[in-house]
Amino acid sequence: MIDLHSHTNQSDGSATPEELIRDASALGLEALGITDHDTLSGYDLARPYADAAGLELICGIELSTRIQPEVKTNGKRRSSIHLLGYFPETAPSASFRDWLTEQQNARRRRNEALIAKLNSLGVEITLEEVQELGRNLTGRPHFAQVLLKKGYVKNLQEAFDVYLADHAKAAVEREEPSLVEGIHHIREAGGLPVLAHPLRLEEAADEGQFRTLVRSLVEEGLQGLEVYYSEHTPAMTAMFHGMAQEFSLLATGGSDYHGTNKPHIALGTGKGQNLNVPYAVLASMKERARQA
Ligand code: AMP
Ligand code: FE
Ligand code: FE
Ligand code: ZN
Repeated sequence: MIDLHSHTNQSDGSATPEELIRDASALGLEALGITDHDTLSGYDLARPYADAAGLELICGIELSTRIQPEVKTNGKRRSSIHLLGYFPETAPSASFRDWLTEQQNARRRRNEALIAKLNSLGVEITLEEVQELGRNLTGRPHFAQVLLKKGYVKNLQEAFDVYLADHAKAAVEREEPSLVEGIHHIREAGGLPVLAHPLRLEEAADEGQFRTLVRSLVEEGLQGLEVYYSEHTPAMTAMFHGMAQEFSLLATGGSDYHGTNKPHIALGTGKGQNLNVPYAVLASMKERARQA
């Protein structure tokens, strides 16, 4: 069994890179992919622990992208689409790392604007308080935790519903790359772009619409679909698997482990033991990466 989708506390997971490697080894995983949001630092920090433990560690990333940043429906932007990038054969290029740094700067600017907006709404929180939780990848979930701790909301979901969600009171648009731009950057960096958890896409509700989307992304260089995923029903898995075959895409899989931040999802085995991704998936990815 392998797991190609996991998060450390360098993004929004709860486990340190060292703990994640220890847990993956204890579970007997044959390989682990670390796919933190918009950062490689969890992978970088985990590398020596994986080597020491003899665990095969795959470098990955999960980018937040917009399908068509300029298009709005009823004045609303679509929610962001997650794009995985895997580097099973060669390390990501230096220019890719530079590009990620730019994305992190955009996040920092968004966070500053979000604080200003919350303050103007009478919510007394500071960037320092939020960054204490989020450190180098402070995101809205950390804002939600501070709002809860300070009694502005009764639970984390209310923090999103009232203040933080895309169209809530304090919403601030972050400059995110387009999905196609993300695909191109991962390819140029020597990686494999894979559409993460396709069930979350509006298009996935309709097989025909989903096919149209996948076809256009394949033309841009998409290499895979995350077919095996904790939140996929057997019917969804079958549909995504068929689509991957139709377009000769890799069918990848992973749990999206976030530790205690998503306690219902277990490393490797997913939700209620619904995952068991075989090593053959990774073998195909390596082959594809060598050809690319
Ligand atoms: P950020 O990357 O800082 O914009 O935060 C995005 C994260 O916030 C997502 O990965 C979700 O975990 C969470 N999130 C965004 N919108 C919502 C929402 N409406 N309800 C609950 N969680 C949300
Ligand atoms: Fe996450
Ligand atoms: Fe995701
Ligand atoms: Zn994820």
